[in-house]
Amino acid sequence: AYNFSAGPATLPEPVLRQAQSEMLEWRDAGASIVEISHRGPEFLEVATSAERALRALLSIPDDYAVLFTQGGATTQQALIPLNFAQPGQPADYVVTGHWGKTALKQAGPYVATHVAASSEADGYRNIPARSTWQFAADAAYVHITANETIHGVEFREIPDVGDVPLVADFSSSIASEPLDIGKFGVIYAGAQKNLGPVGISVTIVRRDLLERAGQPRADIFDYRSQLKGESMLNTPPTWNWYMLGLTVQWMLDEGGVAEFAQRNARKSALLYSAIDESGGFYRNEVDPAVRSRMNVPFFLKDEALDKPFLSEAKDAGLIALKGHRVIGGMRASIYNAMPEAGVQALADFMRDFMRRHG
Ligand code: PLP
Repeated sequence: AYNFSAGPATLPEPVLRQAQSEMLEWRDAGASIVEISHRGPEFLEVATSAERALRALLSIPDDYAVLFTQGGATTQQALIPLNFAQPGQPADYVVTGHWGKTALKQAGPYVATHVAASSEADGYRNIPARSTWQFAADAAYVHITANETIHGVEFREIPDVGDVPLVADFSSSIASEPLDIGKFGVIYAGAQKNLGPVGISVTIVRRDLLERAGQPRADIFDYRSQLKGESMLNTPPTWNWYMLGLTVQWMLDEGGVAEFAQRNARKSALLYSAIDESGGFYRNEVDPAVRSRMNVPFFLKDEALDKPFLSEAKDAGLIALKGHRVIGGMRASIYNAMPEAGVQALADFMRDFMRRHG
């Protein structure tokens, strides 16, 4: 089956096959990858090669540190104000969907959150023009959500926010295209879409920002201590780290982010064409200029068709197309591991379903 789940999402088949054998015995360690110590030379090699591969894949400059931590993207949303803002200092949030709103909420106890721009009143169907954003004075950072996984809205350009550090949630679009990391202060992502299975997140931080005081926080919530401790202050999620390394290496072997950018443009165009050419049978309400290439939400013209659509799709080997409960309808998540054949199969199915039910 082709799995269109938004996350945990489909993983590349070669990665799953390699993991299957190494789950039983990892190289000559005499034990499974999940049974060896995180402090031993075998796992340290897994961890450092995962970072090396990620740095190569994303062209991460040397003046950026990379942290691999537990707690998912939501935890980073709370740790960012703790690490980079003074208590009560303003921090700007640009809210373009559900996850931007979550980030705002997580920061609330620690900083004076300020909404610099929001498309909530419009149902999160666009991104407010940069010229309309209104920043707080003395803001610690500006936070954006690069790709809104539920609403299907994606920044197609990195906004210029001057000297204030730009913090971006890239959970659902990291590694989907080449990115100038140097334009950001912090980039974070839960792994479970483009980077591997759920259970680990990646935070890429400009090193000079780590010198900022931040707020009182326990070591375990302190990015500086995590960096000093090589992301191993406590037992790290070793299996997830290993799987992330395999997934990143797979992306490098496939041709890297430039190659995936082309595939993702073709894949998303297939689905948006099927929607736009359906004469209203299917609809996607997002401003075409900011439609996501990773998550394609769509609605059928008659809600009564939702159930038959999902059940016939499942029979055709196309699974996990039900939309998020926040907006309903359908959603096809087409991350890097989704082959073009899977997206073509879905577009063909959509046209066929419309012929039979339209
Ligand atoms: N940010 C975005 C853009 C997401 O898509 C998600 C989850 O889907 C999250 C944050 C929350 O991630 P986590 O479940 O890892 O905390």
